[in-house]
Amino acid sequence: MALEIKKVGVIGAGQMGSGIAHVCALAGFPVALADIAEDRIKSGMAVIDGNMGRQVGSGKITNDERKKALSIITPATSLDKLGDCDLVIESAVEDEKVKRAIFTELCPHLRADALVASNTSSISITRLASISDRPEKFIGIHFMNPVPVMELVELIRGIATDDETFDTARTFVAKLGKIVAVSEDFPAFMVNRILLPMINEAVYTLYEGVGTVEAIDTAMRLGAHHPMGPLQLADFIGLDTCLSIMQVLYEGLADSKYRPCPLLVKYVEAGWLGRKTQRGFYDYRGEDPVPTR
Ligand code: NAD
Repeated sequence: MALEIKKVGVIGAGQMGSGIAHVCALAGFPVALADIAEDRIKSGMAVIDGNMGRQVGSGKITNDERKKALSIITPATSLDKLGDCDLVIESAVEDEKVKRAIFTELCPHLRADALVASNTSSISITRLASISDRPEKFIGIHFMNPVPVMELVELIRGIATDDETFDTARTFVAKLGKIVAVSEDFPAFMVNRILLPMINEAVYTLYEGVGTVEAIDTAMRLGAHHPMGPLQLADFIGLDTCLSIMQVLYEGLADSKYRPCPLLVKYVEAGWLGRKTQRGFYDYRGEDPVPTR
């Protein structure tokens, strides 16, 4: 019999993890939210509160729904607190070593029938599943950023993922009000396989002096009707995340067309990671974003 998801664990309270906790709680799933430190969970909760407040302001949800959702998100200061979850979604930094350590620590605390998912943007689900003690109950549930706004979720089966896990995950995603696109387990799946090389090419266009930050973004906004320019989007995603996805594509597909632009590497080395650090292709420290090149 397929497992019914009643309680969800989310590991990582950053921009994605807080978004995942947000949509799960609004859909009525109690959530245990974990991160490496209590203050990170607190700031994740503050982000959720602020984002739900905006949804109340725009009439998407009522204040009662906001309060109820917030009341069912509990901080989990260590992974053993996720032991009563039916599904745990890992959404920590895009670093395979970190994710490996999390699954190794997490799995012994879970019930044997609990499902484990990763929100990785690019790392092989099959490889991550093999670290867990339950590859058949492991699946990729890849949300889009910002989670409360974007309709799509990519579902990725690892080589061992069983049908029951897949069906349970599909039903769960539908309960969140999201639409599923099924992807095979190849580097960066579908959306990022297409999107990230475009962003990387925009950085090359900047690097080679073809256009300024502003010109490139204006070109793609007005010339291709993209709602955001590619460099603005890169800042939004996080330049470290963009770089690691390009590295996964480059190594995983062994094709030089995916080589990360040296300028992207330089921004990451500088710690200019985009919006989350206040500086990336734009400087966000003032009232309006100012291009940094
Ligand atoms: P982020 O940097 O905003 O948040 C990552 C969080 O993970 C931080 O709060 C950090 O403290 C926490 N963390 C680090 N090590 C941890 C550990 N050992 N245990 C628990 N928590 C730990 O990053 P993000 O953008 O939220 O990305 C998280 C995941 O979601 C990544 O796998 C990323 O590829 C994926 N993703 C990102 C996007 C995007 O647009 N940013 C979209 C889809 C998926």
